[in-house]
Amino acid sequence: MTRMGYQEEHEAFRRTVRSFLDREHEPNLAHYEKIGGLDRDFWRKAGAAGLLGLAHTGGGDFTYYAIAAEELGRSAGSATTGSSLMADVATYILIGHGTDAQKEKYLPGILTGEWTQAMPLTEPGVGSDATAITATARREGDAYVINGEKYFISNGAGANLLYVVAKTDPSRGAKGMSVIIVEADTPGVSQAKIPMIGWRQGDTGAVNFADVRVPVSNLVGQEGGAMKILMATFLEDRIQIAARCLGAASRALELTLDYVKQRKVFGQRVIDFQNTQFVLADCRADIRITETMVDTAMMRLREKQFTFEDGAILKLWATQMEGRVLDRCVQLFGGAGLMDENPIARMWTAARIQRIYAGTDELQKVAIARGML
Ligand SMILES: Cc1cc2nc3c(=O)[nH]c(=O)nc-3n(C[C@H](O)[C@H](O)[C@H](O)COP(=O)(O)OP(=O)(O)OC[C@H]3O[C@@H](n4cnc5c(N)ncnc54)[C@H](O)[C@@H]3O)c2cc1C
Repeated sequence: MTRMGYQEEHEAFRRTVRSFLDREHEPNLAHYEKIGGLDRDFWRKAGAAGLLGLAHTGGGDFTYYAIAAEELGRSAGSATTGSSLMADVATYILIGHGTDAQKEKYLPGILTGEWTQAMPLTEPGVGSDATAITATARREGDAYVINGEKYFISNGAGANLLYVVAKTDPSRGAKGMSVIIVEADTPGVSQAKIPMIGWRQGDTGAVNFADVRVPVSNLVGQEGGAMKILMATFLEDRIQIAARCLGAASRALELTLDYVKQRKVFGQRVIDFQNTQFVLADCRADIRITETMVDTAMMRLREKQFTFEDGAILKLWATQMEGRVLDRCVQLFGGAGLMDENPIARMWTAARIQRIYAGTDELQKVAIARGML
């Protein structure tokens, strides 16, 4: 069945992403486990395959980015290596709000994988309530001096191009927050990996800024304009997360089907229990509904009809759906579903992240409820 709103060029791109991940990602998992995550080589190859800077190379068609997200979700290895390519959502910030000089300087290297990006907003003491961040960017002549600590940042330990969110005017709350580009080798920047149980070899990092001095020309958009920039990026981010959940749930169902068809209990295959068939049917229905939601969301985004409330509903549904499907799949595997070496176990822990990062379930409900009040 052809997916709603997709053209042949989209499907060709899907094949490119899938074959890249099959070739360069899955077979190298043991290597990534050994070195503690993706290496620069992976990024360069992803750049050469045309998978980076999709906000630019996709000619403004978000479908390409959503496809990359769905395929990354499908790749069972991504449950180990984390959000990787998806940190590229930062390119939307550069394209949408960066100056010509910033684009000229960074875009070519983003496309080749020389620059890898991260968006440090969250802090050890501040997550959901983003406007309460304490990091500051103090103006001194023609420079900003940045101080603060950022935590749980995707690509945070390895990225060399950081779009830091800091208060340029702490007295103005949300309107005093700005996005400033910092190259990670600037004196005063330090990065470290945070060990996590989901995306175990993924790069979830801490970034510290101690009197980090950057030129004022590194400001992205307007001073005080961070929330506006982030809100615009949230729409794309919600869809890519949902697409990723869709890919992961679909792959988990395939892996589970293979398993229950060969595993025998009480002299019969696990799939021959009617309970198993009902559980698989629930998974299938969940996945099909989510597929329709993701494809509709992309169409609405293209028509500039996709709202913040739509994004909240999509993220809430898709992340919970992935959690439900993965939980059922683990159950059908029995004890084997909890073995560390089993991809389904990694996918189960990875699924748990989706309901927390980029706005928790509760924050999505707050946004949805607000529309009804
Ligand atoms: C793997 C991973 C990757 C991440 N990547 C990034 C990144 O790239 N950049 C970045 O800046 N951040 C990133 N984050 C941080 C992420 O966005 C935060 O973890 C998330 O926003 C929640 O913040 P918190 O962890 O501080 O939880 P808290 O804000 O402390 O929330 C604790 C609990 O309180 C609940 N709660 C909060 N407010 C309300 C409310 N109003 N009503 C009801 N309940 C509420 C929450 O839902 C949650 O259950 C990442 C996190 C993870 C785990």
